[in-house]
Amino acid sequence: MRGIRVGTPGGSEAMEYLEFETPKPGPSEALVRVEAAGVNFIDVYHRTGLYPLPTPFTPGSEGAGVVEAVGSGVTEVREGDRVAFFHIGAYAEKNLVPAAKLVPIPQGIDTKTAAAALLQGATAHYLTTSTFPLGGGEKVLVHAAAGGVGGILVQMCKRREAYVFGTASTSKLAMVREAGADVVIDYTSADFEQEVLGATDGVGLDVVYDSVGQSTFDGSFNCVKQRGMLVMFGQSSGPVPPFDILRLSKKSIFLTRPTLGHYVGDPNELLWRARELFDAIASGVVQIRVDRELPLSEAGEAHRLLEGRKTVGKLLLIP
Ligand code: NDP
Repeated sequence: MRGIRVGTPGGSEAMEYLEFETPKPGPSEALVRVEAAGVNFIDVYHRTGLYPLPTPFTPGSEGAGVVEAVGSGVTEVREGDRVAFFHIGAYAEKNLVPAAKLVPIPQGIDTKTAAAALLQGATAHYLTTSTFPLGGGEKVLVHAAAGGVGGILVQMCKRREAYVFGTASTSKLAMVREAGADVVIDYTSADFEQEVLGATDGVGLDVVYDSVGQSTFDGSFNCVKQRGMLVMFGQSSGPVPPFDILRLSKKSIFLTRPTLGHYVGDPNELLWRARELFDAIASGVVQIRVDRELPLSEAGEAHRLLEGRKTVGKLLLIP
């Protein structure tokens, strides 16, 4: 089989498209023939070593396809089932995945949509239902609101009846509006902090969902209202430097840095989030926007586009 390997961290040059041996499933694993792999910012962190993995490894955290073989103890899925997953190694024609991490794809959701939706959709789901459960009427800010997670997050916030401020760079503002944001801010040309505080009479917001990190952290912090929450869930612009916790006392702010794995660790929780996500997609409440599909051999180009802020919505790699 063919797939991508990362040897030593340090740039897209580090991703090679190679032939390697097809693995065999262990007792609790399934071998999935990947039809599409989702490209996520975490793949960049793996490649560059920000989130270190033992090398060499096959990157890719998400995919969907058809079960080709199962281990002796697997009861969750059968050969021929269509499944989606988030598990390292998706940038390959085939991936071995623990059966407990597989999500059956319901009828009515095509395989590519499942690959495009699962990781970013489950993230938007846990952020809006568990990290800061939205009950209706809250005012929220979503950064990078035309991105993969951001576009879904805006839609899920609206579904839960929040009032949404969404930021993005200039060329992507229409997409943020389309996703349903009530106020759209170009954070490359305007001061989003001033815009938000101006629109809320200086009070600020119930919650800020910030995946951009370094370049937005201070402004996001200042946009949170008394006893509100700042959810730092990524660092597309770079990691946030060390932080003095006394700053929180100024407005009794809650600060959290959540990770998807901790919200889907239990297979039932994973299946619940996936079911709600797929239902929302099937009923048209959430729309998944695929920016473009590239052949798997062009994984390096996919990373250049994502890191270069050239994407709107989702990138897929097709083996
Ligand atoms: P996106 O599609 O959102 O791509 C990143 C976007 O961030 C860009 O398109 C760009 O949008 C914006 N951005 C702002 N500054 C920069 C910069 N300096 N360099 C690059 N991009 C920048 O990616 P994903 O949806 O895959 O991921 C979004 C974030 O969410 C990532 O930080 C990721 O790590 C995080 N994440 C966290 C999870 C968790 O559980 N904690 C799970 C999944 C994702 P614009 O041009 O509009 O500024």
